Amino acid sequence: MRFLTLVSLGLSAIISFGAVANELTSLAPQHQTGTSQTVPAVPKNMVIMIGDGMGPAYTTAYRYFKDNPNTQEIEQTVFDRLLVGMSSTYPARSSGYVTDSAASATALATGYKTYNGAISVDEQKQPIPTLFELARARGMATGLAVTSQVNHATPAAFMVHNEHRKNYVEIAEAYLDTGAEVILGGGQKYFSEELLEKFKAKGYQHITEFSQLDGIDKPKVLGLFDEVQLPWVIEDKQGHKLRTLTQKALDLLSQHEQGFVLLIEGSLIDWAGHSNDIASAMHEVDEFAAAMEVVEQYVREHQDTLLVATADHNTGGLSIAAGKDYAWHPEFLHHVTMPPYILAEKLVEQDEWQSSLTAAIPVEFTSEQMELIADARAQGAEPLTYALQTVIDQHSNTGWTTVGHTGLDVQVFATGPGASLFNGSQDNTDIAKKMISLLPQLPAKQQ
Ligand SMILES: [Zn+2]
Repeated sequence: MRFLTLVSLGLSAIISFGAVANELTSLAPQHQTGTSQTVPAVPKNMVIMIGDGMGPAYTTAYRYFKDNPNTQEIEQTVFDRLLVGMSSTYPARSSGYVTDSAASATALATGYKTYNGAISVDEQKQPIPTLFELARARGMATGLAVTSQVNHATPAAFMVHNEHRKNYVEIAEAYLDTGAEVILGGGQKYFSEELLEKFKAKGYQHITEFSQLDGIDKPKVLGLFDEVQLPWVIEDKQGHKLRTLTQKALDLLSQHEQGFVLLIEGSLIDWAGHSNDIASAMHEVDEFAAAMEVVEQYVREHQDTLLVATADHNTGGLSIAAGKDYAWHPEFLHHVTMPPYILAEKLVEQDEWQSSLTAAIPVEFTSEQMELIADARAQGAEPLTYALQTVIDQHSNTGWTTVGHTGLDVQVFATGPGASLFNGSQDNTDIAKKMISLLPQLPAKQQ
């Protein structure tokens, strides 16, 4: 395997953009593998998937959450199958060791570290070229599918440049000039009628219902399916919204002859982590895993496509066991049917709240737990939310250390041509540099 040898010898040279691509394209277009199939040395298409806040504890917990207790073995997940390395996530010096989503997304989109809050601008607030922009300069198509609003920090850093992630309206307006073929997620409240008209004038089909996706058979599409974020998977019985969006994005972008770069984000894993809501977190990871399996299958069928998946940081300091017991009980989490904050809002409104509680979480609570819940309910929805989380954490024996982010390294998953570049230890900026190095060469006159 000449390709693999070259990659393992050449990893240290990746720091300069294009170094690897130059060497790889000298091997191109194709080389034979041990199987009858011919796999290109460099990908035509790239998919980057980001589980927001999905540190290693989340994918480990997910393995046990999905475990079939009736079998001897603990079944592997897509994360176990595709794990190749680890990544550090720290932002620019000025922001310390713990990144936010904006600085990390900037690192993953551009290969540069910046301050927390920055959307693909450097510390002097100057724009940095993104993977999407560099792909478009080479005639490739770009697109995104996320479970947050489409103009949230992670997708924004791939699409545009802004000095602060909170400038949601400016960011949404800037999407108009990106040329992205596929924009799918939430965020209706940031797109005025006037702005939507401008998108339509640029050839975008604007849809707001999942059922309308069937009618979309070619780009461009702007699909905004909720006011802000998409519904929580734990509550949404149809489920697997991200899987549906991922499949549609692949179908549309694969029509582009010059290849594509696609961003998929499981945005709400992070939101559940900030809420220390383990049941919602596991369902959001499940949806992200399902979307990863869609791309994994696409890579099997289209061997010119590279999948790279990672997290932007770790959220909540999730711990798989708490207190002194060596035990974690994910089976309990399958009984929880809505996020605690939504359940709390319902329970404070209802006199017969006990029956609603046992309908939403059909398990036996201890008398101490019922007392905790009743006392908290008397104080309002927010204290009740914390009480419900406490009870869920007690039943599952789940621990948390923060409602913010932590500086833990995250995992890297990859499959397809170029996947071995991502083996081992790396920084989040290296992930972008490696993906950028795999883009096709610009025509000579543009270099
Ligand atoms: Zn994040």
